[in-house]
Amino acid sequence: MLDTLIKNAVVIPMTEPGLVLYGASVGVKDGKLVFVGEGEGEAREVIDARGRIVMPGLINAHAHTAMCVMRGYADDYTLQSWLFEKVFPVEARLDERAIVAGFTLGMAEMIASGTVSFSDMYFCQPAAAKAAERIGMKANLCNAVIALGDGYDFDADRAVIETRRLLPEYGGSGRIRADVAIHAEYTSPPDIWLRVHEWAQKYGVITHIHLSETRTEHEEAKARHGMSAAAAFEKYGVLDTPVLFAHGVWLEKEDMRILAAHGASVAHCPVSNLKLGSGVADVHAMKEAGINVCLGTDGACSNNSLDLFEEIKLAALLSKGKALDPTALPAYEALKMATVNGAKAQGRGGETGMLAPGFDADLIMIDTSKAHMRPLYDPIGAVVYSARGSDVCMTMVSGRVLYRDGKWLTLDIEKALREVEEYAVPIVKNGA
Ligand SMILES: [Zn+2]
Repeated sequence: MLDTLIKNAVVIPMTEPGLVLYGASVGVKDGKLVFVGEGEGEAREVIDARGRIVMPGLINAHAHTAMCVMRGYADDYTLQSWLFEKVFPVEARLDERAIVAGFTLGMAEMIASGTVSFSDMYFCQPAAAKAAERIGMKANLCNAVIALGDGYDFDADRAVIETRRLLPEYGGSGRIRADVAIHAEYTSPPDIWLRVHEWAQKYGVITHIHLSETRTEHEEAKARHGMSAAAAFEKYGVLDTPVLFAHGVWLEKEDMRILAAHGASVAHCPVSNLKLGSGVADVHAMKEAGINVCLGTDGACSNNSLDLFEEIKLAALLSKGKALDPTALPAYEALKMATVNGAKAQGRGGETGMLAPGFDADLIMIDTSKAHMRPLYDPIGAVVYSARGSDVCMTMVSGRVLYRDGKWLTLDIEKALREVEEYAVPIVKNGA
């Protein structure tokens, strides 16, 4: 007996370029996909997906989810003043309750716009892990080490304490996973990188790092180390275990070669990079070099949305505009960044990001009945160029429906909104 049988769907399995299955069925049992395309069977629930696209759930490979409490709080600043004058002072005031409130709001937004799994870098991850567990999303969680100033004490650092708590419990292969993180080249010295890298080796986890986001940052790294940040991370062995870099806007050819040689991934965050005036990453060159390029939203304080459909469309458009070539980053490739490549970057290849037997049942349904989705000549093009996060009408993670027809089934949205407004917002505003 199947748990769920989806029938009459237009399925984009993301298993091979351009493949679309019409009038297709999807069978789900014990959280896994049993068949995709053709198949029948008794099921506890049958969903008629006529007029709907079924595809893998999206993967947000770079997020600071709890920053949703600062959505719209610091628009139109440069990255340096945004970070040091606006964001860091607020973050110093945020307590665990406020962070979990923001994290929960962000999960609500991601679930409703088709994201099933995300790589999150922030504080209070042990508490966030519990919230993600309860609500049912997949998450790779890390707390980034920032080691600035002479008085820095590694053992007393909140990020270190949390990482040490998180790793033994979540350093495996579960739905919630611990990653480790170096915030960026410019926020810690190499001896700290080595200590973070030791964790990555010991627990076999991914290291998440911001890299060459702005030109200033990229140039200052070269002045500091006599080489680029990418080369410096390579020199200290950080790239010897899997690394997920965010941004990579200013990477040079040699940096790309280094990242590709070590099998590193880059989370392209086009909205955040544009909003902070950081520039436009050369996705085409990164892909040509052999880097696994995926997509991220970054935090809601520099985006201001966690809707990955915006990133997918923008990634495709920016590549075309940058190359003066409309064939650059075709729709399927853009969609692959948000699914297959994201899964790989999270260490979840073979588990999620595709619809195929044996994969986890991490899928979304997209309503194609609205005006902006009609007519539907090419479902892949429609998802990339026409769809919005709000067209998602069902989100399923490991066979469990988290969201359907405007309703969250595993979280109380009214309570989540109230908690942000009544508890977190006053803390953000305090002293601003
Ligand atoms: Zn970031």
